[in-house]
Amino acid sequence: MKLFETHAHLDLPDYNNDRDVLINKCFAGGIEYIINIGFNKETSLSSLELARKYLHLFATVGYHPHEATEFDAEVIKRLARDSNVLAIGETGLDFFRNLAPFPVQREVFFNQIRLALEYDLPLVVHDRNAHQECYRMMKKENVKHAVLHCFSGDLVFARQVLDEGWMISFTASITYPNSILDDVIRITPLEQMMVETDCPYLSPQSHRGKRNSPLLLHHVVEKIAQVKEMTPNDVAEKTFDNAYRFFRIPPDPVKRKSTKSGRKK
Ligand SMILES: [Zn+2]
Repeated sequence: MKLFETHAHLDLPDYNNDRDVLINKCFAGGIEYIINIGFNKETSLSSLELARKYLHLFATVGYHPHEATEFDAEVIKRLARDSNVLAIGETGLDFFRNLAPFPVQREVFFNQIRLALEYDLPLVVHDRNAHQECYRMMKKENVKHAVLHCFSGDLVFARQVLDEGWMISFTASITYPNSILDDVIRITPLEQMMVETDCPYLSPQSHRGKRNSPLLLHHVVEKIAQVKEMTPNDVAEKTFDNAYRFFRIPPDPVKRKSTKSGRKK
């Protein structure tokens, strides 16, 4: 099974003891591509650093709503043109933990929506208990190219997202006994679906309490296959193609060349 991991945090200290061994094991074990996600200045830089090391690993740059008070547009502008950077994010709104004041979250999300449009990059959106506010802001700015990562919305929000042509990405939270996402999985066409681990967080039910990694991504695929009554292979293939297109994966030689200059424009 060939898989595309669309949301990982392999630059975090959780992987300091075995990062390179683990990443090589992922690539040897069927994970074809990995998108490593920045969520503040430090992790945007470390994601890019990791992407420069691996041919099939790419980075995103952005500020998570929890980090909104640290927002610095110059950091994103400086990094966004690097050919290893394929998206802006993760950004969005989090009215659940509410670690930054709402008005600051909105302002910083708005700025990153604008940057994504300006740099013609897809947007990786984190939404927690802020579904309608995310929807309103994204629609107002006429966002076309976005993924709702670790989808946690209801059916109403799912339909809104799908109608806009945005993507829905599932983590192993769909494997938890209290998950209410089966109906969302049912109504989401495979064409608008991607899969991710959000590792080191959100380990699948059978591995809860342990560190997550892309090696466990197949649990997400298997759960979707079970709900949609398809084969895991069909889900793997389709979500792979979606992610490949969504992130506009460049051909290998382009990336090899660009790691020297680091610039595409
Ligand atoms: Zn994340």
